Amino acid sequence: MPDHTFNQPLGGNDMPRFAGPATMMRLPSQATAEGLDACFVGIPLDVGTSNRPGTRLGPRQIRQESCMLRPYNMATGAAPFARMQVADIGDVPIDTFDLKRSVDIITAFYDDLLTHPCIPLTLGGDHTLTYPILRAIARKHGPVALIHVDAHADTNDEMFGEKIAHGTPFRRAYDDGLLVNDKVFQIGLRGTGYSPEDFDWARDKGWTVVQAEECWGKSLKPLMEEIRAKIGSTPVYLTYDIDSLDPAFAPGTGTVEIGGLTTWQALEIIRGCAGLNLVGGDLVEVSPPFDPSGNTALIAANLLYEMLCVLP
Ligand code: MN
Ligand code: MN
Repeated sequence: MPDHTFNQPLGGNDMPRFAGPATMMRLPSQATAEGLDACFVGIPLDVGTSNRPGTRLGPRQIRQESCMLRPYNMATGAAPFARMQVADIGDVPIDTFDLKRSVDIITAFYDDLLTHPCIPLTLGGDHTLTYPILRAIARKHGPVALIHVDAHADTNDEMFGEKIAHGTPFRRAYDDGLLVNDKVFQIGLRGTGYSPEDFDWARDKGWTVVQAEECWGKSLKPLMEEIRAKIGSTPVYLTYDIDSLDPAFAPGTGTVEIGGLTTWQALEIIRGCAGLNLVGGDLVEVSPPFDPSGNTALIAANLLYEMLCVLP
């Protein structure tokens, strides 16, 4: 039986799943992270995108498609709402006319959020947002290990002359010393590049790059076992770009690459984070205008739930 001293998602037998307020997992909403062990928070950002836009609509659509999620994880046995106080704390009020200012707004928001002992799970939003989150995370926890699942390295020094964009967050995080460099793992990278050495910048820094081709046709459980052993008890942040998945599963995103991961590999990666000292996570780059079926947002909602299930 669930412990009803904790918030519970509104059940489908109490209110039809297509009705009621569209919070993440139909959880209660509150204005701050006070009293929470974990929270969902949206960042409706898409001014950092370089190709198709639309991720500003991601948080709302992920919440919408989360309405089917039930409390218990039938595969892993996880029961997050029996052991944690969780709520949806709404969206970060970004400045949609000013990306650089938005980055500072995001860091300030997470600085404040992290004054509470609450683990944030973020609904994106384009991948620019991970950099300002990591600034706040590192301020609280020190440099962190990173598991970065993505079709792209996102380690460009600049895009169109700009230091802040959705293809630069991990270069900026490196520049600011936010990461433990021998505990950074990039999984699912692929596609065309500007030079044959594109992924070597990270390898030169001590990061581990697992290209998509190394993942094809096999279980990623052994990889995650290796990653868990290497990270140990170091605080770790999980950043999940939905374009890591093959566009057959998740076409609703801005910078699509073929030959991606499967949804069951995504589950293996996130479930493989169980036991790690996770201090935050995000799911980014869902673009509802390119997601007419809602499947991309539905996958994103499920993956965010799976993240909740593996929080310490
Ligand atoms: Mn990305
Ligand atoms: Mn990407």
